[in-house]
Amino acid sequence: TTAATERAAGAPRKKMEVSSTDVAIEITKMNKWYGDFHVLKDIDLRVMRGERIVICGPSGSGKSTMIRCINRLEEHQQGSIVVDGIELTDDLKKIDEIRREVGMVFQHFNLFPHLTILENCTLAPIWVRKMPRKEAEDIAMHYLERVKIPEQAKKYPGQLSGGQQQRVAIARSLCMNPKIMLFDEPTSALDPEMIKEVLDVMVGLAEEGMTMLCVTHEMGFARQVANRVIFMDQGQIVEQNEPEPFFSNPQHERTKLFLSQIL
Ligand code: ADP
Ligand code: MG
Repeated sequence: TTAATERAAGAPRKKMEVSSTDVAIEITKMNKWYGDFHVLKDIDLRVMRGERIVICGPSGSGKSTMIRCINRLEEHQQGSIVVDGIELTDDLKKIDEIRREVGMVFQHFNLFPHLTILENCTLAPIWVRKMPRKEAEDIAMHYLERVKIPEQAKKYPGQLSGGQQQRVAIARSLCMNPKIMLFDEPTSALDPEMIKEVLDVMVGLAEEGMTMLCVTHEMGFARQVANRVIFMDQGQIVEQNEPEPFFSNPQHERTKLFLSQIL
């Protein structure tokens, strides 16, 4: 029987009941190989709408590969990945649908160097969403204001600092109105003085309720905004917890070792 019929029959409401529509991402027994190399092993991960998850772990543990699987920049071989109710398969239409919902920000900004900041932001809305140019530009300016660089709109990426470029990359993603944002070490290529300006934008997004998966070693950010911190090692999710217990009382030796090296 479903929960609804149980309740109709007088059964008490289950305490932790969640509707399946509250699930943003559901990864089940997912495995991936690069050739013979087993890079992701039995990954199980459910992300609820509005959840903010920080993923950490040593270099080479599979963090990037895992989040790249979520918008099919990488393909998994076993198990399932369901994003916003759509299962990722070879179906190109579904892949497009998911990519429209999921924004991604990379370590190395990946802006188009020959386009202005404004053009970087309007390209996908105009060509993918078929949005009129004027509307796309209005939306782009709105998000460039939000990341506090509207005055840079006519410049080219090479004329901006790393921190400014990363904020453009975030604004560009937001122009597509994503439901989920994936961040892969967005501050690790930045000079220290620019890290905060990017983290501030991410904190703002978190406060507005964006569903976020962030690979980052910025543990201050994790403490401030994460609902959950996930530790990966050798292709597995080794441990996950709320930030406070995760940092103060890690359970596994590998987590303790990792934290002792970065904190
Ligand atoms: P992380 O982001 O945690 O540093 P990655 O997901 O980038 O880890 O990589 C996990 C492992 O997979 C590493 O051992 C890496 O060398 C390997 N790897 C990553 N991309 C490829 C690829 N395209 N082909 C083969 N091996 C890869
Ligand atoms: Mg990586």
